Amino acid sequence: DTIVHIDNVTKRFGNVVAVDQLDMKIMAGEFVTFLGPSGCGKSTTLRMLGGFENPSEGRIVLDGVDVTSQPPNRRDVNMVFQDYALFPHMTVGQNVSFGLELKGKSRPEIERRMAELLDFLQLSGFRDRTPDQLSGGQRQRVALARALAPDPKLLLLDEPLGALDAKLRGQVQIELKDIQKRTGKTFFFVTHDQEEALTMSDRIVVMNAGRVEQSGTPEDLYFRP
Ligand code: ADP
Ligand code: ADP
Repeated sequence: DTIVHIDNVTKRFGNVVAVDQLDMKIMAGEFVTFLGPSGCGKSTTLRMLGGFENPSEGRIVLDGVDVTSQPPNRRDVNMVFQDYALFPHMTVGQNVSFGLELKGKSRPEIERRMAELLDFLQLSGFRDRTPDQLSGGQRQRVALARALAPDPKLLLLDEPLGALDAKLRGQVQIELKDIQKRTGKTFFFVTHDQEEALTMSDRIVVMNAGRVEQSGTPEDLYFRP
């Protein structure tokens, strides 16, 4: 099933064509990575999916609904950032339950969902800590738990591993892929790191100057004889 259709989208900033007639479909449960050098249009694409930028032309269709003119809070999409953007004065539990409270969920439902997520992400023992009492990898998992909590249709990840040191990054790559598979969520991941893309993706879209240069599975793109 198609969950996202980027329907012939172009984005211009003045004379700069950041994204040039991009047309692609993303399947439900797919881990799609946009890979390419700085300035190729990865973040702009992600920001249009999240509703933080409007396309100059074309449409964003999410689960059959045209959301092109919908603001971020009206889309069933969530984001994970490189700097985690956790609330520093809130505990892990408060960070994770925040989005559920905004959605008006009942306290028992919030407790149930939070316990499930903290357990799933091996954070149960850290519920009452604040972010400064956590390691980088743990903070990343909290950010992920917070983003997954409202059960969004699509998760947008903008270089989320960029702040981790090289050793931890390899470990978190495997964790992230595992979490994606176990939740069955659709992940739209942006990176300039080829190894990250190869390790985690079902499909890699190689971008260059706002256009798709190549697209396929990691094997298609890098291991073809
Ligand atoms: P990437 O994420 O691949 O590094 P971006 O999507 O951030 O690339 O940027 C694509 C192009 O669009 C670049 O030339 C960048 O300078 C330009 N761009 C991005 N955002 C803006 C903006 N808000 N105003 C003007 N130009 C922008
Ligand atoms: P990234 O490559 O990770 O997107 P950037 O430094 O390119 O980081 O972009 C950071 C922010 O600045 C984004 O919100 C982007 O839209 C904006 N931006 C990028 N390029 C330009 C530009 N040429 N003029 C104005 N804003 C820009």
